[in-house]
Amino acid sequence: MELIDNAYSIQGVKLVDICEQFGTPVYVYNAEKISSQLQRLQNAFSGQRVKIKYAAKALTNLNILKLLKKQGAGLDVVSIQEAYIGMKAGFLPEEILYTPNCVSFDEIKEAVELGLRINIDNISILEQFGATYHDSVPCCVRVNPHILAGGNLKISTGHIDSKFGISILQLRHLQRVIKTYNIKVTGLHMHTGSDILDSEVFLKGAEVIFDLAREFKDLEFIDFGSGFKVAYREGDVTTNIEELGEKLGNAFGDFCKSYGRDIELWFEPGKFLVSESGFLLVKTNVIKTTPATVFVGVDSGMNHLLRPMMYDAYHDIFNVSNPKGTTRVYSIVGYICETDTFGWDRKLNEVKEGDILAIKNAGAYGFSMTSNYNSRFRPAEVLVINGEAKLIRKRENMEDLLKNQVEIDI
Ligand SMILES: *Cc1c(COP(=O)(O)O)cnc(C)c1O
Repeated sequence: MELIDNAYSIQGVKLVDICEQFGTPVYVYNAEKISSQLQRLQNAFSGQRVKIKYAAKALTNLNILKLLKKQGAGLDVVSIQEAYIGMKAGFLPEEILYTPNCVSFDEIKEAVELGLRINIDNISILEQFGATYHDSVPCCVRVNPHILAGGNLKISTGHIDSKFGISILQLRHLQRVIKTYNIKVTGLHMHTGSDILDSEVFLKGAEVIFDLAREFKDLEFIDFGSGFKVAYREGDVTTNIEELGEKLGNAFGDFCKSYGRDIELWFEPGKFLVSESGFLLVKTNVIKTTPATVFVGVDSGMNHLLRPMMYDAYHDIFNVSNPKGTTRVYSIVGYICETDTFGWDRKLNEVKEGDILAIKNAGAYGFSMTSNYNSRFRPAEVLVINGEAKLIRKRENMEDLLKNQVEIDI
């Protein structure tokens, strides 16, 4: 995001022009930012045989997937539908790790038939898997190392109350099942949640996994999941990827030596790759002064960006239309008939009705968590690539809203 000639722009394309051309609300993504984030991660771990599996659920637009595929990423999916979308974007089945939670065994069988890599996070499923495939289909096992990551319990998955993964405390049981069914385990996986600041947390998790890994003889990879923290506010401390690359890279190198074989080091970031690339551009419908605050009511809401309401996530907001105006304090709210506040008490350059606001960090879990609540259309999506703004998803229309409704005689 640059401010050129008093206008915010991405790769020289002005945000106001994007709104003019495609209307609001609109999601805009910067392809360069996505590529540079991927490269940063690949560089940080270049000493190892590293593979980055993009967590598709963060943002599933085909063009984003194609971009990441072109730059050498694989894919991590949590549903069979995400796998189909990934394959449509050009990923080979063997480049896709399927990491479901609490899905039916039928869906897992479908994933096996597609040729995806299977990640299992439940002993009961592992038993069914073993009884069905024995050693004919390899699998990866998701373990829960019980390390508390990040400050937000809703996005932590490694703690004792989490539904994710097979507890390391169940190792004996896990081994019994693997031995009894002769299951071929080629990968170990942990994903302790989002917003891990400290590389020490990864290292602690790594130690637990390395200890565990010595019990498995056929490993081809260890997947350390994700959880890289990105900046949400100016001055936010973020995961130091380069430091992590050095420390975890070294630890992994040592592990491989003691294991007797070089295996692959995997990560599956979502947020890190796409969060900062994205902006939700909205238009100010009304300014409403109440005894308590000045509300800025915009043409979007929790139907388009749920994170502030669901996770109390902080998303920076700025006035695209008036970059140099006097700053004043506003509360920015949506147009949905719910309390859908994007931000309380934000300092924005003076806002007038009609002004375009940009909500930052909207690349990850933005569009992918949209809904049609209040019968509103989902926004359009635009990708800025090679200095050009390209429409990558049309705004919905009335037909889209009604297409699955079946009218009966009443
Ligand atoms: C959601 C998810 C990720 C991505 O998490 P981010 O915080 O977006 O990087 C990775 N792995 C699994 C299994 C997930 O469910």
